[in-house]
Amino acid sequence: MKDLKHMIYFESLLEDAHNELVRKAKVNGKIALGYTCFHMPEVLLNLGECFSVRLRAPNMGSMDIATYYMASSACEYSRALLERAIEGNYHFLDAMAGVDCCEAMNRCMENMELLETNDPTKEKFFWTNLDIPCSDDEDCVNHLIEQVSRNFLKPLHEKYGVDISDGAIRKSVEEHNKICRLITEIGEFRTEIKPVITGAEFHKICLVTYICPKEDVIPYLEETLEEIKTREADVKNHYRARVVVVGSEIDDPELIELIEDNGALVVADRFCYGSFPGRTEIILNEEEDALTQVCRRYLKDTECPRQCSNHKVQYRYDRAKQLAKYFHADGVIYEQMKFCTYWSFERTLASHVLQNEYGIPSLSIDRPYRSGTSGQLRTRVQAFVESLEIKMIKARKNEKEETIKGGK
Ligand code: SF4
Ligand code: SF4
Repeated sequence: MKDLKHMIYFESLLEDAHNELVRKAKVNGKIALGYTCFHMPEVLLNLGECFSVRLRAPNMGSMDIATYYMASSACEYSRALLERAIEGNYHFLDAMAGVDCCEAMNRCMENMELLETNDPTKEKFFWTNLDIPCSDDEDCVNHLIEQVSRNFLKPLHEKYGVDISDGAIRKSVEEHNKICRLITEIGEFRTEIKPVITGAEFHKICLVTYICPKEDVIPYLEETLEEIKTREADVKNHYRARVVVVGSEIDDPELIELIEDNGALVVADRFCYGSFPGRTEIILNEEEDALTQVCRRYLKDTECPRQCSNHKVQYRYDRAKQLAKYFHADGVIYEQMKFCTYWSFERTLASHVLQNEYGIPSLSIDRPYRSGTSGQLRTRVQAFVESLEIKMIKARKNEKEETIKGGK
């Protein structure tokens, strides 16, 4: 396929947390707010002149110093962020909005704060770490509202004078929804038999929307969408199977490239930094205040195994099945960052349920933070693709035999 006009630019934005669009926004006096998890409501980090930056660790070398402060059993994502923070990579931030999502991330945030990894010349800088409930009933919603109001919105307003009114929240939701509609429309092309966008391209575009100011990204997304509408797929199909990827944080396009290089086109991305559920529109009504609706939405729509009540576990199984059906996938790859407790039990059980109860072939992998060069992953994906191919050949053969029998 012809290269997308802005792809090299998107890739360049992914090479540095303090990228060109972030730098421009800072020069224009905008307020950069860092966060790491879906459970910190992203729309509240984009009020007024603020913009959210979901932290990644591009250009990470070793994680030795972070490992010294944390432990080698903490997931590599949390250690990679601490390492880059110690190296001063996030000095451009004006505040850091953490959540107590897991032990590893708690330690990461705690060390960032204790080691004073923020820019010391920023007098208004503040750290916060919200207590996030583990379920989605109304008591949990009220708890989240209290946490967000007291520990995040209040200091944001007091220190930077940011408008935190109902109107400001609704405006931020509108802009968020613009991004969601564009990403969804681009992502819909992946339902086609011969998609005019690869999973790796889509992932890069989606990642950019998490790490740059929204309003500056929108024109690039609009142009890319128009370009994709008239893009022609290659005559030759380079892929032998279609897969949905489900799991924890993937902010490394090389993992999706590795899967696609080995013959499986990634048609849906149900993982943190992916489009499901992070790029799903937030629909607000006029009857209830926006903050309540936003908090409820983030608790209801999360697909993170941190919520472990039965109805949420079932919801996640069904969601993977639904995505596989909608995107015509032949299988599902469950992935987890090594040492992530939540996803270790989720992927073990879910990959079994999908395979044995729902009849959807699944592959279960754990992986390092940077996985593009993993020979072991390559071999496992290759073997999975081969097994999917054999299944497809058998299904075609059976179909043919049934047709012949029916004709007799
Ligand atoms: S996997 Fe769960 S806890 Fe981890 S970043 Fe994603 S939403 Fe947050
Ligand atoms: S990958 Fe797992 S352990 Fe690591 S920060 Fe995310 S949720 Fe926590």
